[in-house]
Amino acid sequence: MIVRDVVTRFAPSPTGRLHLGHAYSAVLAHDLARTGGGRFLLRIEDIDGTRSRPEHADAILADLHWLGLDWDGAVLFQSTREDAYAAALARLRDMGLLYPCFCTRAEIAASQSAPHGPEAVYPGTCRGLSAAERATRIAGGVPHAWRLDMARAVALAAGEGLWWRDADAGRVRADPLAQGDVVLARKDALASYHLAVTVDDAAQGVTHIVRGIDLFAATDVHRLLQALLGLPTPLYRHHVLLTGPDGQRLAKRNDAPTLESVRLRGEDGRALAARLRAGGAGIGIAGQSA
Ligand code: GLU
Repeated sequence: MIVRDVVTRFAPSPTGRLHLGHAYSAVLAHDLARTGGGRFLLRIEDIDGTRSRPEHADAILADLHWLGLDWDGAVLFQSTREDAYAAALARLRDMGLLYPCFCTRAEIAASQSAPHGPEAVYPGTCRGLSAAERATRIAGGVPHAWRLDMARAVALAAGEGLWWRDADAGRVRADPLAQGDVVLARKDALASYHLAVTVDDAAQGVTHIVRGIDLFAATDVHRLLQALLGLPTPLYRHHVLLTGPDGQRLAKRNDAPTLESVRLRGEDGRALAARLRAGGAGIGIAGQSA
């Protein structure tokens, strides 16, 4: 059996301050690497130029130090990775798997006939445009994203099916088709989350991905991209999400207390990390089914 050195990472987006949920994820990823004698990496996912702020990235580093977490090597900033994303996109485009999408958010919402939640999949409006129509719009400077032709991609890559392994859920059969034609290059960013995270996890040699269970289904798309781009498949652990006293998951949009505010209250960061290790004592844990 080949024993691989464990490499984990924490990959926050610097669009705000870290909260307790982030701290939980970082502690789990850090400890998994450290107990295995492996490496813990830090990646700042700042591809979203409109929402990312350098001061948030600085604060993230300070928060992790306060928690007593240290990482190996230099911090990787996704804003420096344009060439790697462009190469992956070119490869997928050459395989005939990408098409430009000119739809606005409003147009996509209007084209959904029934009420959909945020999970609604793209209806495929731009998939059927002719090559001439695409070329005319691109030459005319119409803003566009690039989407993956999911049916084609699955037909090419899946063969007998794609699988990945989660520490809690076990062997999972990927169902990327359920997510429709996902965006891989955004109108306003170098790459989408799906593309950047898959390319970077491989480039950094990450062997174990620890992240919240809210990203469980996203792994199906990442597994497909790994197959298409010839990248290795890490092992995954999708952990439960912490909840506040109101039972709401701790997230920026729910006004979860930031680590900064906890620190300013006089709490000790290492003691907080120890509580999170002990199962989030005093902090609720949301439902954990996959
Ligand atoms: N950057 C993502 C976030 O902050 C996490 C990415 C991941 O762990 O795969 O939600």
